[in-house]
Amino acid sequence: MSALIMDGTSVATSALAETAERVRDFTARVGRPPVLATVLVGDDPASHTYVRMKRSRCARVGIGSRSVELPATTTTAELVGLLAELSGDPAVDGILLQHPVPGHVDERAAFEAIAPHKDVDGVTTRSFAAMAFGLPGFASCTPGGILRLLDAYDVPLPGRRAVVVGRSPILGKPVALLLLARDATVTCCHSKTADLAEVVREADVVVAAVGRPELVRGEWVKPGAVVVDAGYNPGNVGDVEHATARERAGLITPVPGGVGPMTIALLLEQTARAAEANAGLA
Ligand code: NAP
Repeated sequence: MSALIMDGTSVATSALAETAERVRDFTARVGRPPVLATVLVGDDPASHTYVRMKRSRCARVGIGSRSVELPATTTTAELVGLLAELSGDPAVDGILLQHPVPGHVDERAAFEAIAPHKDVDGVTTRSFAAMAFGLPGFASCTPGGILRLLDAYDVPLPGRRAVVVGRSPILGKPVALLLLARDATVTCCHSKTADLAEVVREADVVVAAVGRPELVRGEWVKPGAVVVDAGYNPGNVGDVEHATARERAGLITPVPGGVGPMTIALLLEQTARAAEANAGLA
């Protein structure tokens, strides 16, 4: 058996077309486009690539970008100050702080300096709490994008065993909560999990969010399972051993072209939504 590929690029393209329509309407009514501020600290090449892609997708749907690039020597206080300033700037609708920031910066303090109504990447504790309680708010983009992709392929979740490998606050933990909210029975694994292979073998749905190339082996995948690979490692390698997993899975995401495009699509949709709310149109 060879799995059906979950084509994130194609699903994201449809979502972006809807956002472009929404942005055109906003721009006509308000007299300016929605604006996303992207903040990049340091020289990490992957982060530069991600931010460049996000800005280029913004341009494609008509969203304006405000780009801020800061040196790797930026302090927590300087970054917090900048994010507070952008939070108070009426010309900015959404703020994205590219993760990760250099090790000496308190990333959590920086995220919390983003005003919740501009937190279109869903990284503040307020957004996380809203998601956990099922209240209105901005979803964490990659987890929200993963759920959209599962929905686009009509993956049933109620009562299914879902295993998330990884528990980071921006990815593993929120995706586990979103799957739980959809009535899956969820196990969230991490670096201390005993016998990871046996846990993954029970999964109807596996989400790999580890940041270790091909950590999830193909032979661990239950035949017919749905495999979502959120990992992105150098050389376009995911966190799942794709070639062998594909032989066993029912549905699987490619890397690239799976989760990545969905993340950006959700970011831009949430930026349009933030702009509408900020302009009193929502
Ligand atoms: P992270 O903050 O480094 O978290 C990694 C998680 O994996 C941690 O919870 C860690 O456990 C767990 N882990 C590490 N080694 C493990 C092992 N041997 N067995 C089980 N769990 C293990 O990473 P992240 O930011 O969540 O990113 C994860 C991956 O997703 C990366 O490849 C990243 O590039 C990718 N990503 C993709 C997108 C996208 O848009 N496509 C967005 C964000 C991230 P502990 O908590 O115990 O340390």
